[in-house]
Amino acid sequence: MKETKIFQTESKQLLDLMINSIYSNKEIFLRELISNASDALDKYKFLALTDSSHYPSKDYRILLSVDKAKRTITIEDNGIGMSKEEIETNLGTIAKSGSKEFLEKYKEMKDAQDVGIIGQFGVGFYSAFMVAQSVEVISKPLGGEAHRFYSEGKESYDIEDAELDMDSGTRITLQLKENTEGESYDAYMEEYRIASLVKKYSDYIRYPIQQDVYETPEGNDDENKPLEKKEPVLVRKTLNSMVPLWKKSPREVTKEQLEEFYKNKFDDNEAPLLSLHLNVEGMLCYNALAFIPAHPPYNLYSENYEKGLALYSKSIFIQDKCKDLIPDYLKFVKGLVDSDDFPLNISREMLQTSPLMKKIAENIENKIVDKLKGMKKDDKENYEKFFKAYGDYIKFGIYSSYGFKKDLLADLLTFPHSASDEPIDLATYVENMQKKQEAIYYASGKSLAEIKMLPQLEKFKKKEIDVLFLDKEIDEFALMAMFNYKEKPFKNIASESADELSKEEKKEIEDLSATHRRFLDNVKEALKGRVDDVVFSAKLVDSPVCISTKDGMSLNMERVLEQQPNAQEEAPKATRVLEINPNHPLFQTIADSSDEEAQKYASLLYDEALLLEGFDISDKRAFVENLNALMMKK
Ligand code: ADP
Repeated sequence: MKETKIFQTESKQLLDLMINSIYSNKEIFLRELISNASDALDKYKFLALTDSSHYPSKDYRILLSVDKAKRTITIEDNGIGMSKEEIETNLGTIAKSGSKEFLEKYKEMKDAQDVGIIGQFGVGFYSAFMVAQSVEVISKPLGGEAHRFYSEGKESYDIEDAELDMDSGTRITLQLKENTEGESYDAYMEEYRIASLVKKYSDYIRYPIQQDVYETPEGNDDENKPLEKKEPVLVRKTLNSMVPLWKKSPREVTKEQLEEFYKNKFDDNEAPLLSLHLNVEGMLCYNALAFIPAHPPYNLYSENYEKGLALYSKSIFIQDKCKDLIPDYLKFVKGLVDSDDFPLNISREMLQTSPLMKKIAENIENKIVDKLKGMKKDDKENYEKFFKAYGDYIKFGIYSSYGFKKDLLADLLTFPHSASDEPIDLATYVENMQKKQEAIYYASGKSLAEIKMLPQLEKFKKKEIDVLFLDKEIDEFALMAMFNYKEKPFKNIASESADELSKEEKKEIEDLSATHRRFLDNVKEALKGRVDDVVFSAKLVDSPVCISTKDGMSLNMERVLEQQPNAQEEAPKATRVLEINPNHPLFQTIADSSDEEAQKYASLLYDEALLLEGFDISDKRAFVENLNALMMKK
């Protein structure tokens, strides 16, 4: 007897949405129906394993077929099946919270164009109505009767007794919508389209997804006979590969297989610099693959670049770039995560706040960093490549976390330095420090060439103290965020306090300053507004002057900040100190100048120092005039 029943209100709303969907990603209906079929098989299989006397085991499979004449697509599983009551509660009402949540979200959204979110939800069975004008479900539980559900997705559905030629299972038949100008529903019946949709969304479903297709056999039965034209035969083809690479034990998967997978999946013809295959069990259960491309993705630096790992749940594809799975500083990492613990219908909002997601993300971050540390130790050449390509991102990780990630990331850093041409890491630097050396010294500037010209380096060279060279904009900011490493503070050699002076040296400087107080004051007066102080220095060997800054902001940092696109007019400034080398012949010549002369020299000294530090002179005309005046004096 046929009964007609009314859909629950919420179901009606969701159906209405599906039917009128302007959503371009209609193809996900197949993923949803296959996923339901797979769940039904899971349920049967579970019973077969736990209650084998009632539930005989069988060849589990999902069968797809099309009837081009009738314009139907059928998805059939031999899983648990549904009783009449189950059909009514499962298909007549919205059973799951995910769909309810989706509806609420959707209602909140004013802009109907933004239905892109459908793809992020497992909208389940009703998604069939995105492509079908009517849906028929015939289902039978083991030992029970078969029933037929039929609906055009509007007000109501029909339910009646039926026949099904399986001991249990469900057959869903979609009557495709009429083609429209913009949309060909016929395309879903094409063999290659079905095959590619299965590959794209359901490749790793653990049951075979099969389709009966005609194939023309090749070759000949009898080699001695001439080639015969054979009739096409119907063969049952399995469309999915069933076991995803990442679900296999890492021991079973070769490096080549991983690399091949990466190249295919992420469209790169180069093998990755690093591949990571994780199979995590215990409190947290997930499988993951992570790769670092040999070359940064071409759009990595653009604002439109989307970071993230693909997300699978129970091997079913959910989302392409789940950004919560990877921190910003590792945005170049590609890969995927599969965890049975994520419900398929999880929404973006739920993902963001999911503690599970957070834990997995942290775990993956740590594993990637560990693997990089291993690479740094065992495969220097590749690590150098890595650091050249992505080193700034690691520094950004330290900087942007205000040093919070220092313990995790500091050992990944390497820098060019004065003692050799090979980059050095902080641990080695500290190990090689001189006995009395108290700080990790660095020099910063626009380029290595400019850094190497810094007057402040002279003393360090003489004393054979190693100095790190910071030629990247982010460098100094990252070190500032770290503050110290193994309790050794970082010190810019151009900072006022970077001299390691003996008591005698200090005394000498004090005495000299007293003697030449008038000269120093004259120079200071002349440079008012440009420098904070003028002092004698023990930093210099061959150069007559340099500019130091008080601890904190350096000249280089000031320059970097000024260059930022969003720099404020009044960007913070470094506090400058002009340091004069009292042992330089130049000083000895000008020490006894008149007040007026001393003031003229002051500007020249300051400009000279700026040039040596790699900076431009702002008032070039004044510089030239001063220089000319001095030359003419001769
Ligand atoms: P979900 O699968 O996320 O729960 P659906 O709307 O897709 O939501 O399906 C609702 C319910 O209908 C399922 O939970 C399941 O109990 C039942 N169902 C759907 N498809 C099948 C099937 N092929 N075999 C057995 N039961 C099914």
